[in-house]
Order: sequence, then structure tokens, then C-alpha cells
Amino acid sequence: MGTIEEKGRNTPIACTVDLCVIGGSCTGVFAAVRAARLGAKVAIIENNGFFGGVATAGLVTLWHSAFDMARKQQIVAGLSLEIIEKLKKRNAVQVLDPDAGQHRAYVFNPEELKIDLDELIVETGVRPFLHARFVDAVHSNGQVSAIIIEDKTGRRAIEAGYFVDASGDGDLISRMGLPCIKHDELQPPTTVAILDNYNAILRQNPEFDLSKEIFNPRHPNALKQGFVWGSNVIGRPESYMIAGSRAHNADCSDGDSLTQAEIKCRRQVRAICDILRQVPGGEQLALSNLAAYIGIRETRHATCLYTLCGKDILEGTSFSDAIGYGTYGADIHHSNKAGITMKYLDGTQRYAEPGKPSVWSRWRDESAGSTPYYQIPYRSLIPESTSNVLVAGRLIGADPSAYGAIRVMMNCNQTGEAAGVACCIAMNKSVSLSDVPIDLLRKTLKEGGSIFPESETL
Ligand SMILES: Cc1cc2nc3c(=O)[nH]c(=O)nc-3n(C[C@H](O)[C@H](O)[C@H](O)COP(=O)(O)OP(=O)(O)OC[C@H]3O[C@@H](n4cnc5c(N)ncnc54)[C@H](O)[C@@H]3O)c2cc1C
Repeated sequence: MGTIEEKGRNTPIACTVDLCVIGGSCTGVFAAVRAARLGAKVAIIENNGFFGGVATAGLVTLWHSAFDMARKQQIVAGLSLEIIEKLKKRNAVQVLDPDAGQHRAYVFNPEELKIDLDELIVETGVRPFLHARFVDAVHSNGQVSAIIIEDKTGRRAIEAGYFVDASGDGDLISRMGLPCIKHDELQPPTTVAILDNYNAILRQNPEFDLSKEIFNPRHPNALKQGFVWGSNVIGRPESYMIAGSRAHNADCSDGDSLTQAEIKCRRQVRAICDILRQVPGGEQLALSNLAAYIGIRETRHATCLYTLCGKDILEGTSFSDAIGYGTYGADIHHSNKAGITMKYLDGTQRYAEPGKPSVWSRWRDESAGSTPYYQIPYRSLIPESTSNVLVAGRLIGADPSAYGAIRVMMNCNQTGEAAGVACCIAMNKSVSLSDVPIDLLRKTLKEGGSIFPESETL
């Protein structure tokens, strides 16, 4: 289509801060809050009118376990648990109980989470920019001096000493031209929906299997074979959160592909509802919430000083610069075939195809036992070829199988906290981000509420 030349312009500076965070999911908010609590002057840029990212805009309301595989030792705390305590005050979180046969996890109310995140930002004096989109970076030799946002006011610049790219899609690092990777098979995006009066179907059909119904070719509008899961909705006992749509082969870092994926997934949500309305008990089913933003599983990854690999996750490689811990297994949502493959830390693996019994096998001999947890090293947050940018969230350095595990929010949240603290230490000690003393980083994280497994000395 050719190009047009834009006129040069002078852009007003909205503020000058120590740290500017791009992207306001919990990852970004936690980076900003941790830095502000250490005395830094911080700004945060968020495209939506509220914080939370996939946890709020995407209606994905489930955080995984904060415990090791034996469920004995707590391995995650920090702001994730602080937020859970805030949510508890309003009955806005349910802790799933493994002793009742559930995975240990937290299901929360996304609307209350939005307000709790607002409070954290306001209390800590972070300067928020909502409805603000990061559009460009002023940089040279890998050093960013300012970023450009577009919001209702117009086009504005924010100057900072340090930047955290928590945009999920690596918008900052890609605009800077830093090396990024896109895996060959990108995990597909999904638009989540909440359906009211869903439980009437279950009452009338005790054997009801959602995946057997919505992918069943006897329905002319059946979905192409994919994967579906869902969750109860806090405070709405008749409702169900459903994640069943998926846009195969979409690349949500491409504007046209993202647009098509949004429309395609909403059409699939409608098909799911129409199919369910034909099931006895489903007559009153109502589509009550559609995610404000398609849930993006994967786009760009930063090329970082360390790229986590599947072995690091599954076998629990020990890193001297560990800043985060997790147990969620490597879960690959296939874009080119139905279902998901999940490898667990206990040595088992499962291929789950809709409407069919899961196929279980082992990736490691039973005698090897279970990996208690895995570690995320600080180096996987440091992109190559820049001196004042860190990445946090789903774009950190990880290969496809490690990515299947680290992408969950309990993990992303910890990377945000570490990124915020690391920027403050680099600033206060006048050292480069790659020379941040690891013992000080971990000590400062601990003093701010993070925990480290007992076996690790500080
Ligand atoms: C359907 C689905 C189900 C999932 N299920 C679970 C689950 O059950 N549990 C779990 O823990 N994880 C789950 N995940 C994974 C998890 O939600 C994501 O990997 C995680 O939210 C990524 O966090 P993030 O902070 O990197 O990115 P995001 O949550 O995507 O946040 C990025 C933020 O940056 C903002 N942003 C982006 N670009 C710009 C820009 N240019 N300017 C300004 N702001 C910008 C966005 O608006 C957003 O708020 C699921 C993901 C999907 C899609």
C-alpha cells in the first residue's frame, strides 16, 4: 500500500519519573507498586480504563497454587497474596481446596479486583494513565529516554530512567527494534464469556458434557475442534465462566489478525450459547458478560539473557538468581490440532481432546518422584541489547514448553514485582540492570513481602 510521510512534531512531556511501566495487568501494577514502595517516582500506562489485563478485561478469574507440589510449603506470597487478602474482605475470592479434590487455586471477582488495583496505585502514589496507549519510544543505542502515549489529551511523552515492558505483547521492545521471537506455533487466543442460568442445564442433564456438545458436528454451528474449560463465578451460583472459543493461527501482535480474531471468537461464543439453548434446561441461558478484550495467550517473546526451557521447568533447575517460583505444569494449547497437552511436575502427562477421555502417560519414570517447584531466573527478564528496559509477564525469555508453564498469572505477577524492585536497585546503586546484586534483589523482595522456599538461604 506504500507509505505516507508524517510531519515532525514537538510532543508535550506529561511527566518525568524514575520508572515507567507499560501495561497495567497485575504484572505491571505490581512492578509499579513495588518500585513506588521503595521510594521511586513511577508512572504506569494502560490501554483499558482499568487495571488487571487478562484477569479483568479478559474475565480469566483463576490464579493457581501458591504452594509446592506436596502442598506443604508456600512458595508464592508478595502482592498476589496481598491482593487475595483484600479480595477476601468482600467475599470476592474463593480458595479451592485440594482436600476436596480440587486443585489449590483462587477464583476471584474481576470487578472487585479492578477496584483493589486502583487502590494500590493510588495509595502508593503511582501516576496512572488509563485509556492511554503506548505508541512509540524515543531511544538510541538500546537506551530509552522517553515513551510516547496517545490518550484523550492527545500525544504525550513520559520521560523515565527505567522502563518495564509489561504489555504482554512486547510493544516497547518491538518498537525499539530489540530482538524478539515468535514461536512457530502460537497458542491461540480465546474470548471468555459468562453465561447466566447455565446450571439449569446441569440440573436437567446430570451427565452433561460441555465439550461433547459444542464441538459436536451434528450442530451446524458447532465449533471447530479445540478445547473448552470453565469456572464457577463468585457470587453468581447459576452462572458459568466459559473459555471455549479460539482463533486458530491468529497472531494478535498483528492489527488485522487481532481484529479478525476478536470477531471470530465472539461469533463462536454466540454459537456456544445458541447450541446450549437447544439443550433441555438451556432455554433461559443468557450471555451476560463478554470479555472486553480477547484473551491473548501468546505473541512475541523478548530475547533475554536467559531463555527458560522445558527441562528447567519440569526438572526444577536451580538458579542462583531465582526471583519467582511456580508449580503450574507446561500446558500447550495447540493451534493446529484439537485439545491441549499438559506435562505435570509429578512426571505425568495428559493429552486432553474434547469429548474423549484424556490420554495419560508419563514423561518421566515414576521412580524419579516429583519436582517440588520450578524457578524463574532474573536473567530471563533482561532483554538483550538494552541498558534500561526489563520485561515482565508472559513475554519473558522462554521456549515453547517452558512458556506453557510460566505464562500463568501467579508467575507473571512475581516477574512484575521483581522487575520493579530491580529497577529501583539499579537506580539507587547506579549499576546496570544486568549487574543488580542478586542477594540484594532477593533480600529486598523478601522485605517487601515475597517469600523464598525454606531450602534456599538468603
Ligand atoms: C483464555 C485464557 C485463559 C487463561 N487461563 C489462565 C488461568 O486460568 N490462570 C492463569 O493464571 N493464567 C491463565 N491464562 C494466562 C494468563 O492470563 C496470561 O498469560 C497473563 O495474564 C499474562 O499476563 P501479562 O501481564 O503478561 O499480560 P496481560 O494480562 O495480557 O496484560 C497486558 C496489559 O498491557 C496492556 N497493554 C498492552 N499493550 C499496550 C499498549 N500498547 N499500551 C498500553 N497498554 C497496553 C493491556 O491492556 C493489558 O492490560 C489464560 C490466558 C488466556 C488468554
